[in-house]
Parts: sequence; structure tokens; C-alpha cells
Amino acid sequence: MTPPPSCAFGPRRYRSWNEYVKTRYGGRVQKVSVLAGFTCPNRDGLIGKGGCTFCNNDGFTPGYLEPQQSITAQLDHGLDFLRRRYPGTQRYMAYFQSYSNTYGELGRLQGCFEEALAHPAITGLAIGTRPDCLPDNVLDYLAELARSVIIELEIGVESCNDATLARVNRGHTFATSADAIERSAARGLEVTAHVLLGLPGESTESMLDGARLLSALPIHALKLHQLQVVRGTVLARDWQRDPESVPLLGEEECISLLADFIERLSPRILLQRVGSEVPPSQKLAPEWNVRLSELAPRLSAELARRGTWQGCRHVATGQFQA
Ligand code: SF4
Repeated sequence: MTPPPSCAFGPRRYRSWNEYVKTRYGGRVQKVSVLAGFTCPNRDGLIGKGGCTFCNNDGFTPGYLEPQQSITAQLDHGLDFLRRRYPGTQRYMAYFQSYSNTYGELGRLQGCFEEALAHPAITGLAIGTRPDCLPDNVLDYLAELARSVIIELEIGVESCNDATLARVNRGHTFATSADAIERSAARGLEVTAHVLLGLPGESTESMLDGARLLSALPIHALKLHQLQVVRGTVLARDWQRDPESVPLLGEEECISLLADFIERLSPRILLQRVGSEVPPSQKLAPEWNVRLSELAPRLSAELARRGTWQGCRHVATGQFQA
């Protein structure tokens, strides 16, 4: 079956972030990671200790980053690397990725974000954080910044299932995520939700129901990541003790689940990521490893094989449904 012309997704069969960025900004936009020294309330004891069971920020932090360097120096270093690797890039955004990058006094956040924006090559910020670290005064400040620069607010939702969130020691509920997303969007901020597929305790039904719940929220984009066991995490300890206690998605199962999920997701939501790669030195399981550059076309091929596309099984039930 060929997607109807109104889908306008092309051969990808889903709303691709990369295509959107090329159209909106006229070319490639690259994120330059920085470590601003923020921590996380789920690690320092404010909300919890030990962090989320799947988390080891070292697994996702580029090795070239040195937190003792200034943000400006980190950006210079990252830009030097990325300009050689992606010579055609037109724009760069500073990416505050690791830990909770709105967990701090407003003055400190302003210092970090404005130092990054003062860099002549930086035209915006991508800011990753937890949903319970977004008080109204921080959102007001980010909304003001978004009047003149690109601000992408990346909120860790991880699961729409409260039992799973408790099991992975997340320290917040889905209602907290929904509230943060709604307060952000009400200020005009573009929210990317970060979701993990395959967390302990999730069933296929609960994950697919997540597509319905997320579709009813004013989310601009979604990052979907498959669960992987990263060294140094509570999950790794559990897996090493008893691998069967940590069921992981198989390769074909993951692609099939992604297709099922995307079929149920509102066609309005951009897909910024459909999987993740963990450096081999950091990853314990699963054994299978598909590069992101291969995963996206395989997902599209699966959707094409089924004759389906993003949103073809989506049932509009709320204000933000397409
Ligand atoms: S995933 Fe985020 S919220 Fe959870 S422990 Fe790690 S830094 Fe904290």
C-alpha cells in the first residue's frame, strides 16, 4: 500500500527529524555536547540516590569532553572535531545532554546557557533534563531565550507506565512528565520527549499504549531508544546476577515494536531518534548491535513491507491529535 499523499512522509514512512531540520533551517544542524557540571536530584539525594537503574552518564558522554574546561573551551574542542567529521554543517547547537541540565539556581543556568550562546558558532541550545526540574521561572527564562535562538527542550519521560517508572527508580510519575510538557508547550517551547522501549516490567501493550498517551501531549519530537545494559548501572548488576531478570528486545523484535509504536503515534510528532548506540566498551547487552544509520532504513523497510506509516493506527482522542 502506498501512503496517501497527505502523509508527505516520503519513503521513510515516518516524520523524520533530519528532513524537517533541512527544510526549516536550510541544511544540517549539528549538536555540540558540553558538560556544565550539573548533577541530578535522583543521585544527590533530593529525590533519590543511586539514580535510574539504567543510567550511567559516561555511556552517553563523548570521550573528548573535559568537565573542568569552560563551556567555551568545550565548544571550541567539539566544533573542531565536528567540522572535520561533518564538513557540510550549517548550524551548531550547544547540547547540554548529561545529567539534569536545569537542576540549579536560575542564575547558574543563565550563566551556562548564555556562555554557550555567546559563542559565535552557536545558534541554539538543546537542553536535556528531568520533568521535575522545570519550575515555572526556568521555563519563563527558556521561553524568553526561544524568542531569538533555537531552544530544544529534551525531557526524559522514559516510560508512560508508573509501575515501570517506580521499578527503574525514576523518582517521578508519568503525570509529572505530562505536566512539564504541557507547561513548556504553553510557553511556546518545543519539547522533545525521550522514551526508552523495553524497560523492565513493560509489556508490549503498555509500550504501545505509551504511543497513545504521548500523542495526546503537545510534544514536538520524540527520541525512542531501545533499552541496553550499560556497565556501571544497577541494571548491569541485576543482569550479571541473573540475565533472565532483565529481558531485552531482540533485533527483529525491536524493529517490529518500533513499527507498531510508530503506527500508533500521532503523525504530527517528529521522530528525532528511533534507536540508540552505546559505545561497545560501555555496553554489556544485548549482543546485537545495529548502527543508527542502518536502523532507520530497516524500520522504513518494515513499514513498507506492512504497507503502513506513522499514525496509520493512531486514534485521535485529545486536543493535540492530528
Ligand atoms: S537518567 Fe537522568 S534522571 Fe536518571 S539518574 Fe541518570 S541523570 Fe539522573
